[in-house]
Amino acid sequence: MHKKLQPIVVVVLVLIFAQSAASQDSFHFADFFVEGALRIDIVHSGTDVEDVISVRRIIREPHWSGPKTQLMLSRDMGKYRFDLVDAGSGTIIYRYGFSTLFGEWITTEQAKQVRRAFEETLEMPYPKAPVVLSVYLRSDKGQMEEIFTMSIDPADHQIGHTPIMPLAEVIDVQLAGPPSQKVDLVILGDGYAADERTKFVGDCRRFAEKFFDVEPFKSRRDKFNVRAVFVASSESGIDEPRKGIYRDTPFGMMFNMFDLPRYCMSEAVWAMHDAAALVPHDAMLLMANSSRYGGGAIYNLYTVFVSDNEYDDYLTVHEFGHGFGGLGDEYYTSSVAYNEFYPQGVEPWEPNITALLNPDKLKWKALVDEGTPLPTPENDAKFAQVVGAFEGAGYAAKGLYRPSVDCKMFSKGNRDFCRVCEQALVEMIGHYAPSATD
Ligand SMILES: [Zn+2]
Repeated sequence: MHKKLQPIVVVVLVLIFAQSAASQDSFHFADFFVEGALRIDIVHSGTDVEDVISVRRIIREPHWSGPKTQLMLSRDMGKYRFDLVDAGSGTIIYRYGFSTLFGEWITTEQAKQVRRAFEETLEMPYPKAPVVLSVYLRSDKGQMEEIFTMSIDPADHQIGHTPIMPLAEVIDVQLAGPPSQKVDLVILGDGYAADERTKFVGDCRRFAEKFFDVEPFKSRRDKFNVRAVFVASSESGIDEPRKGIYRDTPFGMMFNMFDLPRYCMSEAVWAMHDAAALVPHDAMLLMANSSRYGGGAIYNLYTVFVSDNEYDDYLTVHEFGHGFGGLGDEYYTSSVAYNEFYPQGVEPWEPNITALLNPDKLKWKALVDEGTPLPTPENDAKFAQVVGAFEGAGYAAKGLYRPSVDCKMFSKGNRDFCRVCEQALVEMIGHYAPSATD
């Protein structure tokens, strides 16, 4: 997809005023924002030691579906974060944590050999007055370091309008209420040919039934809007490079991302946002028209699942735990002692994994019963059902701990989220659907 590059004047400001986050009590959405969303398409490039953000274009979109009362999460999550600062007052008016495909790629061998670039999109409510956008990277020491900053005047006539996806059709799967008070999911199907529209609609409805059969979503179904956008694919199915199968599809979904057999992802982030722009969306789900086992997800990027794999039900909800809840994998391979994925001696940002550097300050301490030792012995039957800190998590057998012996983020199959994961998901639902903080 080739779009004309729009010139953008970037002014780097040195912030000489002290920044302060807007207090939730005194904060009024309408003081700082108007209707719509500000979308910034960026190219994220570099190597394992280089992290560069370049702006491709800035667009005003019609829908802002996020909450209007709680603009920041209480948890500091994601490998990256951006802050939107009101230039006049120095107030942080919006903050968003996220992770990226680039951020995963830099852990691969290829990132030591070649510089690569990935599409990304930053979305925020449309500001009323000039703002300063700053993007931060979480360093290996766990500190947030600024890697990009620019000023944006929302009245700038260079800001474009949303490209309309030709022949896209919006399908309401489930509507529960106003976007600012609900979690708005959008399903984008890939690899569905024009004559597979009926299958697409059926697959979306089947997904919803399975998704809302799992807690904590089951008892909070009325907190979710689910919409789908159908964009007909020239060919049926998606890429399977290891088998020499390539398909022309609108969202470029593929198995074998980073040459991993089951890792099903897409790099066509801007095309996804072009389609998602048609509806309010807090989280994107990509559904591949395939019966092959696979999936993937990245926190606040997207969640991927396949339409027709009978073993995929577990995987879809597990991946949504990553994509929506920012949950980490609790599993590990016992043959690997320490792993580079999480830097040693640094507390992971994921709500369900800890380095247990200070047991007194364990982030899920409120859920641990008095008398439960930390770390918690796994082989003692009396701790089999409790919340504690069990060694082995985040791909490492040593040095990282998970909250429970078992969890949907730990092992495959039909099991529940552990209490810590469930609480993190409930908090996130409550963030987007403010009345759901039960
Ligand atoms: Zn868990």
